[in-house]
Amino acid sequence: MDLLNTLVDKGFRRESPTREEALAVLATSDDDLLDVVAAAGKVRRYWFGRRVKLNYLVNLKSGLCPEDCSYCSQRLGSKAEILKYTWLKPDQASQAAAAGVAGGAKRVCLVASGRGPTDRDVDRVSDTIKAIKEQHEAVEVCACLGLLSDGQAERLREAGADAYNHNLNTSEATYGDITTTHTYADRVDTVNKAHAAGLSACSGLIAGMGESDEDLVDVVFSLRELDPDSVPVNFLIPMEGTPLAKEWHLTPQRCLRILAMTRFVCPDVEVRIAGGREVHLRTMQPLALHLANSIFLGDYLTSEGQAGRADLEMIADAGFEVEGAGEVTLPEHRAAGRGGCGSHKEGGGCGSHGESGACGSPHEGGSVCGSVPAEGNCGSAASAEPAVAGEPRTDLVAVRRRGAGTDLAPNA
Ligand code: SF4
Repeated sequence: MDLLNTLVDKGFRRESPTREEALAVLATSDDDLLDVVAAAGKVRRYWFGRRVKLNYLVNLKSGLCPEDCSYCSQRLGSKAEILKYTWLKPDQASQAAAAGVAGGAKRVCLVASGRGPTDRDVDRVSDTIKAIKEQHEAVEVCACLGLLSDGQAERLREAGADAYNHNLNTSEATYGDITTTHTYADRVDTVNKAHAAGLSACSGLIAGMGESDEDLVDVVFSLRELDPDSVPVNFLIPMEGTPLAKEWHLTPQRCLRILAMTRFVCPDVEVRIAGGREVHLRTMQPLALHLANSIFLGDYLTSEGQAGRADLEMIADAGFEVEGAGEVTLPEHRAAGRGGCGSHKEGGGCGSHGESGACGSPHEGGSVCGSVPAEGNCGSAASAEPAVAGEPRTDLVAVRRRGAGTDLAPNA
């Protein structure tokens, strides 16, 4: 296809596709899907080789949020039966982070529900960052605490944070349909504050909330303009008890096209498969590694992911390799400019806040699942349910009941 050859050439040059080209990727047929994956895979390998960066979520404070993000199980009025707890202590968070690092994660994403942190909250998170860095000097830490006030990004940076996540989630035109308690402009402002403070910016989207192809292209082009180092792509996990519980629109093929389009528009950026990976890509997860160069290991904020060992096996079986702590994630031109992502001595990359996504988290995205085959949850190869594309797969959604905020060991 001429379209794909053009997009590969542009990707190598870091040149933006046109809107029409991005829309054409989303409109490709299933017969052309492997060609699309192969083409976007060339761009992925050109900038990131066969490396997969592992990130690990620690939900510092779960539920009871005053904001009304429709996709989020932690929102105001959510009836989702998620874990609810207030701030973890630094040693508790550090212990949770250690499990992820032991599992191979080179980035820890510290997420807290809420509109944004108070200055006292920034102190707490600063203490947590220091506790983690004392144990794991080389680990990248990304904070995801909601909307930032003046000076807070600088304080997090001084405390040792490498990155800050705040997702745009959806297009500016539809943002008001998803959330009414803050604006798209508020979100852009926080990403810009993170940038200005020298933090590696992480900002992404949630697909599957009923948006159009045009909305998806809008938000990905807006992200390209914001120039984050990392772009988490969440696939909505329609959690029971949230307003979007019935929004089951995604198929594995649709998810692959969305990831391919994101790769073509943001060719040299860490594209991360975030929440909803197990629920919506299902057995097609390994193909998605040809498009994204980063995933979350283990569980998400309020939902369970597939077993950490299954993530590692999938990466190895698909012919990819886990990115080591000594490897720089980002291409040289990007890492040098930021001192960031990838440069685990100097900075880090991205994460998220919310959950529908996961970190990307919803604080953003949904919640996720994935779950360990042995438990018959998400992704369970043993599930008796036939996989019908586009049908609700509530059988694959499992609320997180282990790890941070519980007495049970985390999944990593
Ligand atoms: S996404 Fe974040 S701000 Fe929005 S409701 Fe969820 S926890 Fe609150």
